[in-house]
Amino acid sequence: MFQSQTRLFKGIECPSIKQKKKCELPHCIFSHPRAAAATAVKRVKETPAKAAPPPKRKVVFSPVMLDHPPAQHQLRLRYLSVIRDKLEEVKCNDPEAKAMELEKQTAERSTAGTYANNIRTLVREILRGEHNEGAEEAREKQAAKSTRLKYREELAKLIIPESKLSKRYIIEIPSGEVEEDNKPVKCDRCGAMFYPTEEAPVECHFHLLRRNYNLEKKKLEDVFPCCGQVLGESNGCELRNTHVFKLSAPSELHKAIPFRTVPDTPASSKWLFGVAIDCEMAYTSKGMELIRVTALDWDSGDVVLDRTVFPSGRVLDLNTRFSGVSDLNEGTTLNSVHYPTLDFESALTALFEYVGPHTIIIGHGLENDLQTLRLVHNLVVDTAMLYPRHATRTHSLKQLAWTYLSRNIQSGEHDSYEDAGAAMDIVKADIRSRLKL
Ligand SMILES: [Zn+2]
Ligand SMILES: [Zn+2]
Ligand SMILES: [Zn+2]
Repeated sequence: MFQSQTRLFKGIECPSIKQKKKCELPHCIFSHPRAAAATAVKRVKETPAKAAPPPKRKVVFSPVMLDHPPAQHQLRLRYLSVIRDKLEEVKCNDPEAKAMELEKQTAERSTAGTYANNIRTLVREILRGEHNEGAEEAREKQAAKSTRLKYREELAKLIIPESKLSKRYIIEIPSGEVEEDNKPVKCDRCGAMFYPTEEAPVECHFHLLRRNYNLEKKKLEDVFPCCGQVLGESNGCELRNTHVFKLSAPSELHKAIPFRTVPDTPASSKWLFGVAIDCEMAYTSKGMELIRVTALDWDSGDVVLDRTVFPSGRVLDLNTRFSGVSDLNEGTTLNSVHYPTLDFESALTALFEYVGPHTIIIGHGLENDLQTLRLVHNLVVDTAMLYPRHATRTHSLKQLAWTYLSRNIQSGEHDSYEDAGAAMDIVKADIRSRLKL
C-alpha cells in the first residue's frame, strides 16, 4: 500500500520506533533514526541476491516485414520516422513501438497506389490526438495518483501532536493499581450513586436527550428536547429498572478489558494509509462496550469494515436511540453480503487487517472510539480538535457536517457509517479548499 513511497513524511517520527524501538516495514514512510535505518539495510544484505532478470531484447526501429509490402523498405522507413516524430509531438508513451504498429496496419491495408495517401491520413489523425488513448489514460492515472499522494501528505500534516493528544486521549497503556474493587459508581443516565454488583431492580429515571446549549444566552436551554419538559418538572421521561455506568479512569478501563497497541504482525497487504473509524457503544455490566465498528478507506472512501460486536458483559441498554443497533443478532449487510455479529477479539482481528501500526485514524472525538476499542494509537486526525479552526469550544459532528459539507446527519438514529464518512469528508473538504484542488 504505502510501501512504494519511501520516507514521505520525514518530519514525523515512526510510531513503531517510538513505541517498540523497532520498525519492520521495509519502506516505512515515516522518519527513522540512523541506527534503525542501518539495521534495515543490513537485513536486506543478508537475503540471497535474486538472479538478475534476462535483459530485454531491444526491438530495432524498422518497418515490420510483410509478405506483400506496398513500398520499398527505404520509403517505409522514412514514413515510419515521420509517424514516430508526430507521435512524439502528441506525447505518446512509446512513440517508436506505436509508430511501428500503426505503419504496419496502414501498409497491410494499402497498395502501392494508396500507401502514401493512407500514411498522410494517418499523420493527420495522430495530430488530432487519435491513436493516443494510452497516453490519455496514463495521464489520467498519473493525475489520480498524484492527487491521492497530495491528500495523503495533507492528512499526515493534520496528525494531532502528542502533547495536545495527551490532554484527551489515553496515549500509553495504563499502568497502576485499581484502588478498590467494589465502590459505588455514578449512573450515567440519572446520576444516582449505586454498586454495579447489586442485582436488585431499581428505578432509573432520566431524559433521553441532553438539553441544548444556547449560544446567545451562553447557557443550557431549560427545555429537554426529548419530551419538551422543563428542567425540574420531573425526573425524566424514561424509566428503566437498572442503572448504568461508564468507566473513565484509564487503570479501571484497562482492568475491565485491557488496552493494546495495533500489532505489527501479521503484516497485512490490506493495511490502509488512513482509515475513518466510528464505533457504537452500549451500556453493559462492564461499563460502556463496543457493539458496532465501521471503517472507511481514506483513499477511496469505501467501507472496508462494518460489523456488529457482542460485548463481553451483560447488555443493560443498547442505546438504540444513538447507536442505531436494536438487535445484536441481526449482524450487518455490506455490498449485499451478510456479516454475522463478531465477538470483541474477532472484531479487533478483522480491524487489524486494515489498520496497521502506521495507519492514520480519522474520526470525531476519537478518544471515545479508541477507548471502546481499547486501542492506544497516536496517529490520529480528530475533527473535534481541528475544526472549526481557532474554535474556543468543541463543535458537534452534526454542526461540522452542516458547516463544511451542507450535510444533515444524525437526524434520526446515529449510524457509524454516516458519522465516519462525515468526519472523513470534513477533513477532505478542508484539504480541498486549502489546496484549491
Ligand atoms: Zn517505520
Ligand atoms: Zn425527556
Ligand atoms: Zn440511573
